[in-house]
Amino acid sequence: MINVTQPYLPDIDKYKSYIDEIYANGWVTNNGPLVQKLERKLADYLGVKHLLLVANGTLALQVAIRLLQWRGQKVITSPYSFVATTSALVWEGVEPIFVDIDPLTCNLNPVQVEKVLQTRTDIAGALPVHVYGMHCAMEHFDRLSQQYKVPILYDAAHAFGVTYQDESLLNFGDISILSFHATKLYHTIEGGALVFKDESLYQQAKQLINFGIDDKAGGDIKTLGINAKLSEVHAAMGLCVLEDMPHILLERQKLWQRYHEKSPEAIQIIKIDNATQWNYSYFPILLPTEGNMKQIMNKLASENISSRRYFYPSLETLPYTNPDGNLTCPIAKNIAKRVLCLPLYYGLSQHIQDKIIGIVQSEAKL
Ligand SMILES: *Cc1c(COP(=O)(O)O)cnc(C)c1O
Repeated sequence: MINVTQPYLPDIDKYKSYIDEIYANGWVTNNGPLVQKLERKLADYLGVKHLLLVANGTLALQVAIRLLQWRGQKVITSPYSFVATTSALVWEGVEPIFVDIDPLTCNLNPVQVEKVLQTRTDIAGALPVHVYGMHCAMEHFDRLSQQYKVPILYDAAHAFGVTYQDESLLNFGDISILSFHATKLYHTIEGGALVFKDESLYQQAKQLINFGIDDKAGGDIKTLGINAKLSEVHAAMGLCVLEDMPHILLERQKLWQRYHEKSPEAIQIIKIDNATQWNYSYFPILLPTEGNMKQIMNKLASENISSRRYFYPSLETLPYTNPDGNLTCPIAKNIAKRVLCLPLYYGLSQHIQDKIIGIVQSEAKL
């Protein structure tokens, strides 16, 4: 079976040498030396200042939501994302207010967001998503954030290594989160990170992810915390994969270019501007109808090739969001029904890719 993605597995001997290191020093979790090393290396690689590793991307979102004190309030977010963006808000007692996306970028439409902020005063913040690693309208959101005094938390789960005008996307907004799940571009098997603009939130977060224990104050507990720590074995995987990133990115770029050149222009979603250095994370296609999308999905499945409906459904339709409080999101709903992500991962063979391209070329109704 050809999956839509496949975790990158680094050289096993390299991984074993890190495991030997863990055995030698007997430190397996609780901010161990490999976690500290990976934090430094990632901050350096990504070009960010305050980076904190955590157990997964969902916990990164939850911790960020706690730090911003959004509980019991309403927060603007995108209906077009992986479910965790919304479920983390609801889990933390926040009411998501869905605002529709821009059909060209599939990201939260800043003009619509501005309209909401102009007409209501009960919005505590915004959680936009850099979907597929394509950047949001950061400058516009920056202005709205200052004008309306609403903090911005970016879900940057797909934006590993992406820069805009030579600046990491992670340096926009108050906090950004990353996911290092095995299915993502860069991974630690399970894992994630928070990136902070201000050092003070970063210091608070360090305590929050460790039960609220303040090591600097002799282990006092002053705030409510949770366990969101990353272990040493996960960090070991992360160190190995990080070393291989240049190689992984080059390979993905080749595969992505091939899809890009051979697929009909009309069904392609990703449009990268000149100011962006992108990460070749996904190849989504947008078919004219849901029926046509399913036809292609089924045809691929009959050849043992799986594709995924990233992202479906539009999140304002989830059973646990508040239908009364929400605006309708016709654009997100419409795109979510017709979108399909094709397999894209390090090691995908050209032979299989040609088969996929052949099916798309013959089945897509233009
Ligand atoms: C994967 C993902 C998450 C959740 O990350 P996990 O590490 O799987 O918990 C959150 N948001 C988006 C947009 C994602 O794609």
